[in-house]
Amino acid sequence: MERYSHFIDGEPRPAGAWRPVFEPASAEVYAEVADGGETEVLEAVEAAEAAFPSWAALAPSARARWLERLADALEARLALFAAAESRDAGKPLALARDIEIPRAVANLRFFAHAATQFASESHHGEAGLNYTLRAPLGVVAAISPWNLPLYLFTWKIAPALAAGNTVVAKPSEITPATATMLGMLAAEIGLPRGVLNIVHGSGPAVGEPLVLHPAVKAVSFTGSTAVGRRIAGLAGPQLKKVSLELGGKNATLVFANSDWRAHLDTLLRSAFQNAGQICLCGSRLLVQQAIHDEFREALIDRASALQAGPLDEPATRLGAMVSQAHFEKVLGCIARARVEGGRVLTGGHALDRPGWFIAPTVIEGLGPQAATNREEIFGPVVTLQPFEDEAHALSLANAGDYGLAATVWTRDLDRAHRLAAQLRAGIVWINTWMTRDLRTPFGGMGASGLGREGGLEAMRFFTEPKNVCIALR
Ligand code: NAD
Repeated sequence: MERYSHFIDGEPRPAGAWRPVFEPASAEVYAEVADGGETEVLEAVEAAEAAFPSWAALAPSARARWLERLADALEARLALFAAAESRDAGKPLALARDIEIPRAVANLRFFAHAATQFASESHHGEAGLNYTLRAPLGVVAAISPWNLPLYLFTWKIAPALAAGNTVVAKPSEITPATATMLGMLAAEIGLPRGVLNIVHGSGPAVGEPLVLHPAVKAVSFTGSTAVGRRIAGLAGPQLKKVSLELGGKNATLVFANSDWRAHLDTLLRSAFQNAGQICLCGSRLLVQQAIHDEFREALIDRASALQAGPLDEPATRLGAMVSQAHFEKVLGCIARARVEGGRVLTGGHALDRPGWFIAPTVIEGLGPQAATNREEIFGPVVTLQPFEDEAHALSLANAGDYGLAATVWTRDLDRAHRLAAQLRAGIVWINTWMTRDLRTPFGGMGASGLGREGGLEAMRFFTEPKNVCIALR
């Protein structure tokens, strides 16, 4: 059986204890992952501290070359990584192969370039000459979730390393495969020891000591709002920098004058990609009255036709829930929707096959106060709410505590810009979904998080600015 070890100080670190890793598409154990604790965190932080001075002293172009080498090595093994990701997270192979692992490669390359392009400001003319130095912070923590395992792991470690920090990363204990494999690639290319360390284990046993370690200068976290709050509470007393990318309950606004029929593929993906287990999926579909019934029929048709099947079949569109606990949580949310008075139009049940599959589910009849429309479900479950006009759509979209993303479908440009300014979300897509330019600020407001990732935002997060003022006489 496969074993995923910690990766500390440039090599795999044998574990004292192991926990099972499940294959979501069969619900069977297929591997074991190291079950670490404070001891491994202390070792990893020590290795990262020792590696920091020489890593930080490298020219940015030299750090960029290391990231490029890692990207090359990953790209050369794309098929292997895609297969591992698909098995570990229960997602269609095509999704891992065509989108997620290529994006992990792109993350490494993007921040390699960022290292060489990053510059700081100077201010002249008001009070002498001021310039800003931006030094790396030291050892930083990267804590990532299970839904897009390598994609989000690299989204954090790449800017941290590019900016000159050394990293202790904690991937999700539920999907440890590709992070472990990336650690081995780092060793293979000869990345200096201690620059990247990976400690596996549960949030409380590994994540918390990592957040609390005084030598860890910043925590970049992506995951649930509940854990984000916990991390903010732990890091706060030490005045530690935190970046929190949390949950979402995103609205998709479909106006009668949009080309919604032509965009049904994208609309469907925005609801059900990765079986709805993407923080950016639109789980609240708001549809203008005039097209509501027609849209509902088309959505039910297309959603019920999404094929679950062997993950490596090209026709497979629907993957599994990542774990038994998450499977039960999502089924519980569907049961609650029924109790709240929701009508299940399609789906609403587990699929009769091995593994943790749930049929694409569309629910109507619930308003903005229903828990189903307020709480993140993170599965293949969407609700439909009709709206009358723009003001009504906006008030439905902005109801609730989350503020990650919103998508607007309309041909009216004025309306699109008006809504973009008023929607309470960190990301607004207009007539598209999940189109990403890695230079843009990424993150949410309200219960969706604190701070922004992406481009210069990430480089700034992972550095400490210092202003230098020179008198000019
Ligand atoms: P989670 O919060 O349960 O876990 C995320 C990570 O935090 C895991 O590595 C976990 O082991 C660790 N962790 C758990 N408890 C911890 C603690 N007390 N201290 C430190 N670390 C701890 O989230 P999840 O279930 O893995 O992921 C799903 C959630 O992530 C959803 O809410 C989703 O919306 C969110 N998400 C957000 C974004 C974004 O960019 N905003 C992207 C992807 C996922």
